[in-house]
Amino acid sequence: MRNFNRLVCYLNSSIQFLLQLPGVADSITAVQPAELKGEDTVVTAFVQLAQALLSTPGAQSAETLFKVSVEQKSTRLAPGLSPRRQQDATEWLIPLLAKLRRCRVLGSSVASPVQRAMQFHLVPTIECTACGFIRQQTEQSQTVNFMLGVQLLAHYQGSVTLADVLTDFTSATLVHEFVCPNPRCQNNESVERRQSISGSPRTLLIHLLRFDDQGVKNTIAVAAPLLLIHSALSNVQYRLVAALQHHGDTADSGHYTTVRVDADGSAVLIDDANERSPVDWNAEQTREAIYVLAYERV
Ligand SMILES: [Zn+2]
Repeated sequence: MRNFNRLVCYLNSSIQFLLQLPGVADSITAVQPAELKGEDTVVTAFVQLAQALLSTPGAQSAETLFKVSVEQKSTRLAPGLSPRRQQDATEWLIPLLAKLRRCRVLGSSVASPVQRAMQFHLVPTIECTACGFIRQQTEQSQTVNFMLGVQLLAHYQGSVTLADVLTDFTSATLVHEFVCPNPRCQNNESVERRQSISGSPRTLLIHLLRFDDQGVKNTIAVAAPLLLIHSALSNVQYRLVAALQHHGDTADSGHYTTVRVDADGSAVLIDDANERSPVDWNAEQTREAIYVLAYERV
């Protein structure tokens, strides 16, 4: 696979990361140039760049594509995105996934790696511990998600396991000053809120929310297993396939790389134009750098 040295690394690594996900590279390779006519400009730029990376026959040269597509069009994905300046890769990945889901060439097909494989619902529930009142959001009003954003809580010290992060994500927390909707109760310190993950996506993307509002990074080491089984994920077995890493202290500085994890558990680092292997998945520096994880349902 070819690489772009001239793309800023949050774009380069994000594209490399997406191409490691099950079905994505194949469906992109299958897109014919004519199919892109009239397609969304950002989707077109992404598909063309990815095809060039994958050396799809007939793909335009990377240099041309960089100039004509991503440089101009990535800024249309979200305000403030820049193809030249380092920034939070997920600010690009999340709106891109939303666009890929809706696009004709990938998103609307039955085999779509985004529409069918990545989506899940978050189901919020409130429950009053005083009277037992319970309310779960209806299916119609649940939001469709493509990336599970999980908080790294302040009380985590030094290191944490992904299993603990997922447990906390789905655990009930007290909603202060929230009045119980039961008219005979109306207690305002007894309502808890929790959320569950509904659906077991074939490809599960987990976003470790490392950056605060100012873009300052929480560098806590997160131990992510190669095989993940967790009650929050209906005890479905997941295998790690890729990780997007951020090395540095703030969202707009540092460096992004991608790790590909093969079926035998060996990890390969994709660092701009270089593929280096192996990566020690359990090393402290790897655990501090992992930012977005991709798991495949086994
Ligand atoms: Zn109540």
